[in-house]
Amino acid sequence: MTKLNYVLCWLGRYSLLTIIAFGAGAADTAVGQEKPAEPAVKALNNAVLSKLPFTKQDDFQDAARGFIATLPDGLVTGPNGNVVWSQKDYAFLEGTSPDTVNPSLWRQAQLNHQHGLFKVVDGVYQVRGIDLSNMTILEGDTGLIVVDTLLSVETAKAALELYYQHRPRRPVVAVIYTHTHADHWGGVKGVTTEADVASGKVAVLAPEGFLEHAASEGIIAGNAQRRRSLYQFGPLLPKGERGQVDGGLGKTISLGSLSLIPPTDLIRKSGEKRIIDGVEIIFAMAPETEAPAELYMYYPRFKVLNMAEIATHNFHNLLPLRGTEVRDALAWSKHLGEAVETFGNESEAVIAQHHWPVFGKDRARNFLINQRDLYKYEHDQTVRLMNQGFTAPEIAEQLELPQASPMSGRTAVTTAPCVTMPKRSTRNILDGTTTIQRTSIPFPPFRRPKSTSPIWAGRTPSSGAHAKTSKTASTVSWRRSQTSLCLPTRPTRKHAISPPTRTNSSAIWRNPPHGAMHIFMPLLNCATAPLKLAVARR
Ligand SMILES: [Zn+2]
Repeated sequence: MTKLNYVLCWLGRYSLLTIIAFGAGAADTAVGQEKPAEPAVKALNNAVLSKLPFTKQDDFQDAARGFIATLPDGLVTGPNGNVVWSQKDYAFLEGTSPDTVNPSLWRQAQLNHQHGLFKVVDGVYQVRGIDLSNMTILEGDTGLIVVDTLLSVETAKAALELYYQHRPRRPVVAVIYTHTHADHWGGVKGVTTEADVASGKVAVLAPEGFLEHAASEGIIAGNAQRRRSLYQFGPLLPKGERGQVDGGLGKTISLGSLSLIPPTDLIRKSGEKRIIDGVEIIFAMAPETEAPAELYMYYPRFKVLNMAEIATHNFHNLLPLRGTEVRDALAWSKHLGEAVETFGNESEAVIAQHHWPVFGKDRARNFLINQRDLYKYEHDQTVRLMNQGFTAPEIAEQLELPQASPMSGRTAVTTAPCVTMPKRSTRNILDGTTTIQRTSIPFPPFRRPKSTSPIWAGRTPSSGAHAKTSKTASTVSWRRSQTSLCLPTRPTRKHAISPPTRTNSSAIWRNPPHGAMHIFMPLLNCATAPLKLAVARR
């Protein structure tokens, strides 16, 4: 069996598994009737409101600019009427943030709630909020170039159809995969066919190494990653201010079928150009950043820079909780610096394959500089503290973005805070870069409460009693670390949709990184009833 056949064989099985895993999918239960946020949670969330400039509205203006139309409720269904995607359950995202949600996450969730077809500039359109990622559509002389195809065939098809409802129905002549993660290629058969690619009607472009890494992360380790993705993105959790709020990069992952068509044209080095249907595209490579094989590109005709997933409106995770190759913050900052130098003086707008554009030459350039400095700061400060003798968990607990920095402005408002990030940087520096990491946000060793048992999580039925007596924020972190011991290997819908209990509410809601929130909700539920069951079976 050739490598390609092997990959496609696995892909077929994987699609089936995807449907089985997610088919029960859309969370249709109401958010649980939980207790209010504990005082420590409320105080921490309130403190964020005074630290960051929440009155700034430029992101909201950028996110709304160029809106043309959308699907009602952003709803996409599958062949059996199953819900593949919906924005309906996020209607609660109005007004000011509740006590249970970090205001920064709440703001991000409101921005990601905007969905539909948007015109960026003449000839460049984006479908946003119809899946976790964006589809960018470039209008050529006779046809369309589709940049990234969302995660699911169903959402990709719906996104292209939405475009056709408002623009001329021209054929797709090329597809570009920006990188190896499935939310950027999984929907390809929703916009083209294998036959059209095989006949040469449609070109498929990707960075060198695309298929190898897509197969490695998304297929060979795919089942494990997909299982962990259920925790990272929380698609099965009930939506609400005490449930799933947002995925950071977008709402969550779609629940459709996956496809892949191998690329026909590989981009190998920065500066390579292609003219596709009259549209010149200048490519730049950014390997070992957000993905092991990733590119971004500049469109001179439109004066638009597409940063793929290298520059987004958050502080991107460096060690994804679902388990992927660890990202290199230093390399990331260098590639952003190259983008500033190469394209920063001519780009009138910066777009990406998640989130909304930044319009205006100065604003776009500042956005890139801000992102560059964010990753560089995180890397440098981690190294500084590491050399002072701090361990990764200790660095994570103390490292904050400087208030005086531009980073404390727009980026910090929309970022997942850096509490978990330095653990990733030290890991990258100290441990290498290619392992699939286990999910854990450990507690700093020297601050662990002495009075608590190290084995309560998943072992003793009285674990809830220990947790109930813990009220301080630091102890909340300890509780969180203990519950990381019980990640079940087979998450079920029962785990995912169970409402958080009183004992776990602080651990979830205090912690704004979306992935951590999603993970600890089911984790903490499994720390009670399901694990008692597991113990009883022994
Ligand atoms: Zn993505």
